[in-house]
Amino acid sequence: MSLIQVSNLKKSFGTNEVLKQISFSLEKNEVVAIIGPSGSGKSTLLRSLINLEQINGGSIQIDNDYLVHDGVYVKPNDIKKVTGKMGMVFQHFNLFPHLTVKQNLEMAPKLLNHQPAIEIETHAKDLLDKVGLTEKADAYPSNLSGGQKQRVAIARALMLNPDILLFDEPTSALDPELTGEVLKVMKDLAEESMTMIVVTHEMGFAREVADRVVFMDGGEIIESGIPKDFFSNPQAERTKMFLQRNY
Ligand code: ADP
Ligand code: MG
Repeated sequence: MSLIQVSNLKKSFGTNEVLKQISFSLEKNEVVAIIGPSGSGKSTLLRSLINLEQINGGSIQIDNDYLVHDGVYVKPNDIKKVTGKMGMVFQHFNLFPHLTVKQNLEMAPKLLNHQPAIEIETHAKDLLDKVGLTEKADAYPSNLSGGQKQRVAIARALMLNPDILLFDEPTSALDPELTGEVLKVMKDLAEESMTMIVVTHEMGFAREVADRVVFMDGGEIIESGIPKDFFSNPQAERTKMFLQRNY
């Protein structure tokens, strides 16, 4: 059963058609890497899934619930229920600069008010431990390295126990020597069977960790396949050219 089902998704900014009838599905426990040149619509696709962009046509279903059905969005009250199954990690971390690491993690669950504070605090401790940042609980984001910030962002995304994690170029803003610590956390999550979509330029990660690679160009999915076939035997001319330049 698919956790995400996208059919004929269309999205334009003004006259710029950015996503052209995209269809795509993600199975439970699957890790999909999305690759493709800058401007091909990768971020817009992820942002549409969590309702940071409004689409102009097509359908998005998360865990069998519609967010949009044939271009019509569900009622505002139902949107959060659907998008709440996903957590997202952004290229530029998007941490709250005025809050400590611990407070960054605890904010969303405390606002939701579904859990006793002590449980939220224990969960935050456990997740900081998982990403190796226990000693940074009381630090502010400005005192962290990029790699540490991104690990905080991942822990924060996990606080609401999402069924799916979306990553938009999580290592693209990092110095090369800091990408490894972030990729390691993501690899650990994949090994724990987290369902993930990762937009990335890290071909090594895509090859090693993803179950499937999807190549986008010009607002379309050009081809997809298991990494072994995708990288060793790309079919489309555009994929071959992209891999020649980037791999
Ligand atoms: P990618 O993530 O693959 O680099 P994006 O999804 O960011 O691609 O962008 C796809 C296209 O949509 C680009 O042409 C970009 O300029 C355009 N675009 C993205 N966001 C906006 C926006 N908020 N307003 C207008 N155009 C946008
Ligand atoms: Mg992008």
